[in-house]
Amino acid sequence: MTDFTDDQVERYARHILLKEVGGVGQSKLMDAKVLVVGAGGLGSPAILYLAAAGVGTIGIVDADIVDLSNLQRQIAHTTDRIGMSKVESAKTAAKAINPDINIVTHETRIDASNALEMISDYDIVADGSDNFETRFLINDACYLAKKTLVSAAILRFDGQIATYKAHVHNDDGSHGPCYRCIFPEAPPPGQVPSCAEAGVLGALCGMMGSLQTTEILKEIMGIGDSLSGSLIVVDGLSTDFRKIKVKPDPACALCGEHPSITDLSIHEGADAPVCAVNG
Ligand code: ZN
Repeated sequence: MTDFTDDQVERYARHILLKEVGGVGQSKLMDAKVLVVGAGGLGSPAILYLAAAGVGTIGIVDADIVDLSNLQRQIAHTTDRIGMSKVESAKTAAKAINPDINIVTHETRIDASNALEMISDYDIVADGSDNFETRFLINDACYLAKKTLVSAAILRFDGQIATYKAHVHNDDGSHGPCYRCIFPEAPPPGQVPSCAEAGVLGALCGMMGSLQTTEILKEIMGIGDSLSGSLIVVDGLSTDFRKIKVKPDPACALCGEHPSITDLSIHEGADAPVCAVNG
């Protein structure tokens, strides 16, 4: 267990007070490495809360620069950082909250050529991307690299979140679903609009990003009930939260009994997504 400095004891006092967390849990957070894909609407609150929680290493991957139209929801960025790369802007925000932590910036788009290597450096991945190509890629890469994935999505007033760790087998050989078990293939291009086309309520991003971070912190510390095997569907207009049970698909191309996806080659040469990874 990490020896805490006096400042760390004070900074994390409200965590350490929680019997489920304590010094042991806080130590686990400080030793953890989390990769956040997308420093946008979901990634912004995720990065800020991970930093505040003292997660020792936070990787941020995003190829975009901060734009005025991002600031309605992407709270890691500021008006005076318009034009700066999102990874640098988010790093600035995270370091301002907690200078103790290590931020690794990946100013690139995650793709088949770099995903496995990038993800292998981390313990757990937060997906806040907003296009299906990237979601499937990250699901496949996390399963192949045996990393837990906490995936959130938002559109208009709607949100979804789930935890995928199909690589973890229970004593009886059973395991939870992966993203492909629930969504076997991406909808045809143009069928599901992007946030840029359909809009999104900014504060909903904060809610879903915070929920995503809560699940990540729980997974790191091994406390509470994992969201693996459940899909949370949020209707922001009616303020309705539904928890749906989701099962692994034995015919899943990735985690099923006879997998056809054993590497990331199906993602090679994929067209650039229609919208950027910025939520
Ligand atoms: Zn699967």
